[in-house]
Order: sequence, then structure tokens, then C-alpha cells
Amino acid sequence: MGKLTGFKEFPRQAVTYRAIDERIGDFDEVFGSPDAGHLRRQGARCMDCGVPFCQSETGCPIDNLIPEWNDLVYQDRWREALERLHKTNNFPEFTGRTCPAPCEGACVLGINEPAVTIKNIENAIIDRGFAEGWVQPHPPAVRTGKKVAIVGSGPAGLAAADQLNTVGHAVTVYEREDRIGGLLMYGIPNMKLAKTGVVDRRVDLLRAEGIHFVTGADVGRNVDPQQLIAGHDALLLATGATVPRDLPLPGRTLNGVHFAMDFLTANTKSLLNSALEDGKFISAKGRRVIVVGGGDTGTDCIGTAIRHGCAKMVNLELLDQPPLDRAADNPWPQWPIIRHTDYGHEESAEKFGADPRRFAMLSKEFIDDGNGNVAGLRVVQIEWVKQDGKLQMTEIEGPEEVIGADLILLAMGFLGPESYLADALGIERDERSNYRAGHGGFETSIEGVYAAGDCRRGQSLVVWGINEGRGAARAIDAYLKGESSLPAPGITLGAAAVG
Ligand SMILES: Cc1cc2nc3c(=O)[nH]c(=O)nc-3n(C[C@H](O)[C@H](O)[C@H](O)COP(=O)(O)OP(=O)(O)OC[C@H]3O[C@@H](n4cnc5c(N)ncnc54)[C@H](O)[C@@H]3O)c2cc1C
Ligand code: SF4
Repeated sequence: MGKLTGFKEFPRQAVTYRAIDERIGDFDEVFGSPDAGHLRRQGARCMDCGVPFCQSETGCPIDNLIPEWNDLVYQDRWREALERLHKTNNFPEFTGRTCPAPCEGACVLGINEPAVTIKNIENAIIDRGFAEGWVQPHPPAVRTGKKVAIVGSGPAGLAAADQLNTVGHAVTVYEREDRIGGLLMYGIPNMKLAKTGVVDRRVDLLRAEGIHFVTGADVGRNVDPQQLIAGHDALLLATGATVPRDLPLPGRTLNGVHFAMDFLTANTKSLLNSALEDGKFISAKGRRVIVVGGGDTGTDCIGTAIRHGCAKMVNLELLDQPPLDRAADNPWPQWPIIRHTDYGHEESAEKFGADPRRFAMLSKEFIDDGNGNVAGLRVVQIEWVKQDGKLQMTEIEGPEEVIGADLILLAMGFLGPESYLADALGIERDERSNYRAGHGGFETSIEGVYAAGDCRRGQSLVVWGINEGRGAARAIDAYLKGESSLPAPGITLGAAAVG
């Protein structure tokens, strides 16, 4: 366990981001580079609790062996720490950068002290692994002759591909976009997860291990899914939850009102293709911006608009402001529902002098400038009151407010997968429009066709995508061979086989 008295000696010190005025001048990753001594001290704070809640149900969804690698980092045994990390996590460089770290919410130290900086340590282990050349392609020694097609190349599809390839199946990943990575590529912006240096690096590794990638393959439109079924022994759908929630108010069709994903995707494409020289993106430069909706997507819109040089930023949230500390009905080790200030909020506060968030705000109408362009958003303040155990929203009487804006970005979450692929295949969907398939079995209503990730469970997290991809791979492997030695998410290699 780290250092016996580490948690008493060393305070929590998370890895700091680059200075705001420096980082908003580019789209490079926001993270600073911690030295090894800092990370060892932070690893030393881990108490190796009898029951490590950090890696259990309410903590890490892939059951990362956190106390083990914390201790190895403390002992300066980084290569062994990397081996432990890769046992449960195919892509620690993705989670180490993007995960909201439910592990830290469940860290036992968090009962009365700030939690261990688990996510920072995870990221440092894999970054060091790449820097030292320890992460090398390991193609399987034997091929089974079985073929698996995967539709969608986000974390779920990639994790499944990696697992299935490891046990010798021939895997082809079909992706409709021009680059591989799903929301890791065209969703989460470069400043949070570098594309060329981090996402492509892992995809190149997977390719070198024998996984075949096909881009521009829109299954259900320009690729016939029935042919995929006929040409493969199993099919996995990992298409994400890509239908955005709309705000169908008067004025919705005005110029300047966009879905967040149209803004973010075009920005990353243009950035990668031309360093934003081709002009093929929605620019926020000099514009007054409203981002409707909080969450990661909202934050990423704020950070991107700030880097474009927007003139003003307002972020509207329908819900009430969360408390600064855990509420009585949100005890440890649950995920703490508290006010988190993310990189985009910090940057906006620094640039414009105040946090951009306004809570409990209901949008009513997009205002027309008279020429078909948006000129603002009419809003009212609301109040959330509990009635019969349920939160009910009521509008607060008072003067209406119009917030001036030339660009309004809708970042209110996602409703589920698009329907065309499910329709072409004829698979069942659940009441939330996700592909119906149970967690654990992952099989849809069609034999040999599986589903994993956001298209099955609804909008979620990168780490859950990895969990689902690993789980689906194990189920597919068992379907193809009668049993599987692949680990269930979180269970290390060599775990009991499933039949
Ligand atoms: C802007 C944004 C920021 C986020 N930030 C974070 C974060 O910081 N941390 C975090 O943990 N999570 C974050 N998330 C959530 C996270 O990215 C997702 O939960 C995760 O990527 C889901 O993985 P997936 O593999 O299920 O699907 P996706 O990553 O959505 O990948 C699905 C892929 O399938 C492809 N596809 C769809 N249909 C077809 C078809 N018919 N044929 C071929 N290809 C198809 C899509 O093009 C896409 O590439 C964020 C999400 C968004 C939108
Ligand atoms: S993947 Fe997320 S929850 Fe798991 S150890 Fe890493 S940061 Fe924590």
C-alpha cells in the first residue's frame, strides 16, 4: 500500500492545467505535465483499503486495480503498474484524460479527506508507457478463422475489437465518418483529448495488431447490413447515441442556432484537415454565444467558442445549481452530485470576469433580428419544488429577459441511436429507442447480432463504453467458441470461462 502514513503526510494535489491565458490561444491539450515525484507522492496517499470501493460497483466501471497500481507507482515500478492497468483497461490514455472519475467519488479517503488523484496517476502510467516504448503491438499468435464485423468505432467498438482480436478472431470495424474514434475523435475536443497524438496512436496500434478499419462505411445506407451478417460469424453494433435533443421553440430555424455536435465536429475536422484554415466550421469569433445545456458537451462548446474568440458567453442550465458539498441524500461512496467547475467554465470566467453558468433558466423563444438571423433568446427564471416526492418546475413571475446572442448552441443531451440501421436489420428497440440487448449477454433480438455502448445503454461515458465493449466481446467469443477465456469487465485474464 503506498506509504503507510502517506495520506497524513501529503495533501491531495491534482495535476494542474496549463495557464488559462496560454491554453485558450491554442487547441492543444489543457493538461500540464506532472513530474514523477509528484505522482509518487500522490500514489503514496492510497491506503490500500480492505474493501477498495474505488474499484468496485460505485467506483470504476471497469474495476481498474487501483490500489495495486498506486502502490507500484509509489515504489517507482512503472512498467508493472502499466501491466496491471492494461489488464482491465484497453485505453487508459482515453479514460485518464476524459473520465469524470467515479473512482475518486468512491475513494475511502474521500470520507473525511480529499480523495487520491487516481485519474491523474492512471494517465501518467500510460503516458509513461508510450514514452518509454513499453506499449507495442502484440498480434495474436493464432487465428481462429472466425470473422466479426463491428459497426461504430467509438470506445465500445474499439474495446470490443481489441478484445476479440486478442483471442484470434478476424475483426473489421466499419465507421461512417472519415476518421476512426467515434466521439473520441469527433465529439470530445482536441484540448481534452488530442487526436493525432493520442487517438490515432492507439488506432495505429490496433491496426498493427491486425484489426481492419473501413471508414466512409455507413451501414444501413451505403453498406448493406444483411451482407455484413452473411459475410461474418457475428456482428456487433456500437453506433452510439447520436440523436440530439432539440429545443423546438419559435424561431428554432433561424440562422445561428445549431446543435452542439455540428459545431464541435466541424471544428475538429477543420482543425485536423487545415488548422482551421479551410473555414469549414461554425465560427464563434466576435459573436455573442449562448450554450444551452451543461454537461461535458456544453463545457466543450464553451471551450471551443472561447478559443475562436467569442465576444460573450452565457451557459444556461435548466436544473438548479448543485450544492458545493454532498447533500444528505447523496452520501459517500455515491457519485457526488456537487457543483463541478470544468475547464471551459474556468476559461470563460477568466476571460469575461464571471462564471458563464446561469441555473434554473427556461428558454422560451429564439429572437429574430428581422433578417432570419438569431438575435437572442427569451428566457424565464424557474423554481424547482418537490411535490409528492417529485421535483416540479414552476416559472417565477417577473419581467421576461432576452439574452442577446448571434450564436446559440444546443447541448441538451442525446435521445438514442438513429433508427435506420435498426430498421434495416429489423432488431427490437427498447422504450428509450436504444437497441434492446441485456447487459451481460449483449445479444439483440437477432441471433449473432450484438449491441454495446451508448446505442444499448443510452448516452453515457467513455469508461462505460469500454466496459460494454469488453463485455460484448466476451459474449461474442463465447457464442463463436462455446466458451470464452476473455475477462468480464473488471475480471483479470484467466478468470473463469463462460459457456
Ligand atoms: C461533446 C461530448 C463530450 C463528451 N465528453 C466526455 C468526457 O469528457 N468523458 C466521458 O467519459 N464521456 C464523454 N462523452 C460521452 C462519451 O464520448 C460517449 O459516452 C462514448 O463515446 C460512447 O461510446 P460508443 O462507442 O458507445 O459510441 P460513440 O463514441 O458515439 O461512437 C459511435 C460511432 O458509431 C458510428 N456510427 C453510427 N452509426 C453508424 C452506421 N450506421 N454505420 C457506421 N458507423 C456508424 C458513429 O459515426 C460513431 O463514430 C462526451 C460526449 C460528447 C458528445
Ligand atoms: S477509468 Fe475512470 S473510474 Fe476507472 S480508474 Fe480511471 S478515472 Fe477512475
